[in-house]
Amino acid sequence: MGDARAVTDHVIQLYRNVPATRSGVCRICHTGPNNRYDTGEPYCICSSCERTMGGLYRPTTHVVPISLAVQDGDDNGLFKIVVSKANARAAPSWMTPHTLMAATLSRFYEAHEACLTGLAGGPFTLVTSIPTTRRNQPVEAFHPLIRVINDVSALKDLHKPQLLLANDEYVPRLYDRYSHPDAFHVMGAQKEDQVLRGERVLLVDDWFISGAHVQSAASKLFEHGAEEVVALVIIRVIDPSPSRPNRMAIWQEASAEPFDFDRCCIRDRQDHAKHVSNL
Ligand SMILES: [Zn+2]
Ligand SMILES: [Zn+2]
Repeated sequence: MGDARAVTDHVIQLYRNVPATRSGVCRICHTGPNNRYDTGEPYCICSSCERTMGGLYRPTTHVVPISLAVQDGDDNGLFKIVVSKANARAAPSWMTPHTLMAATLSRFYEAHEACLTGLAGGPFTLVTSIPTTRRNQPVEAFHPLIRVINDVSALKDLHKPQLLLANDEYVPRLYDRYSHPDAFHVMGAQKEDQVLRGERVLLVDDWFISGAHVQSAASKLFEHGAEEVVALVIIRVIDPSPSRPNRMAIWQEASAEPFDFDRCCIRDRQDHAKHVSNL
C-alpha cells in the first residue's frame, strides 16, 4: 500500500473525483443524463444506461468508477494510460501503465472496501475481469488486466482470471455500444448452469464508456447464479462537449477540485467520514 500511495500521489493531478448520485448525476454511471432525459429528479438513470441495461437477463445497478477521464484534451492523461497503455506524461520511467493501474486499484480498494462490500451485501467471494474484445480480430487470450489484478494483494487470492469469455459474434455489437445477454459466456458452464450460485462478484474493468461490456458481463454472471455483482472500473470516460452541458458541468466541477482517494462515488465525503467512523 505504501507503494500504491507513492505511485498514485506522483500523478494525482491526472485523476478526477467521480460525483455521488444526485439530481442530474445518473445513479448507475455517475455522469449523464443528457438534457432530454434529465428530469431533474434525484436518482435518475441516463439514456445511455437505460439502453445498455435493457434486454438483459439482469444488469448490475452497482457501477463504481475510480476516476473520470476524457478521451481528448491534454489536461488528463489517464485515458491514454489506461486505454492505450501509454506511459504517463511527466511520470518517471519506472511508472508503467501496469504499475499505475495496479496502484490505483490497490489504493482505492483499500480505502473503500467497506463501501464496495456494502453494495455486494457481504465480502466478495470472487474477483474477475472482462476479457478484451477487438472488432474484427480474434479475442485476445490474455488481458493485461489479469496481470494487474494479480498485483493487487487485496484481490489476488479471490481472482479467477478468464472466468468470462467473449463470444466473437457479439463483439461488433459491443463496439456499437449495445449490450447483449450472450455477449460473454462463463467458462465451462452450459446455459442456466448455476455454477456461480451465492457468489458475490467484484467485476473489474479498465474503462467504461456506455457500459455495454460491463452490463453484458454482469448479466451473464447473474444468469449463472451470482448473488451480487459490483463493477469496479478504473476510469469512467465522458465526453464533455458543449452539446452536452450536463456532462460539461460534471467535468468542470471535477476538474476544479483536488482529487481525493478517500472519497468515492458511493458516498459523498461527509457521509463517508461518518460511515468509516461508525465501522
Ligand atoms: Zn448512466
Ligand atoms: Zn467509499
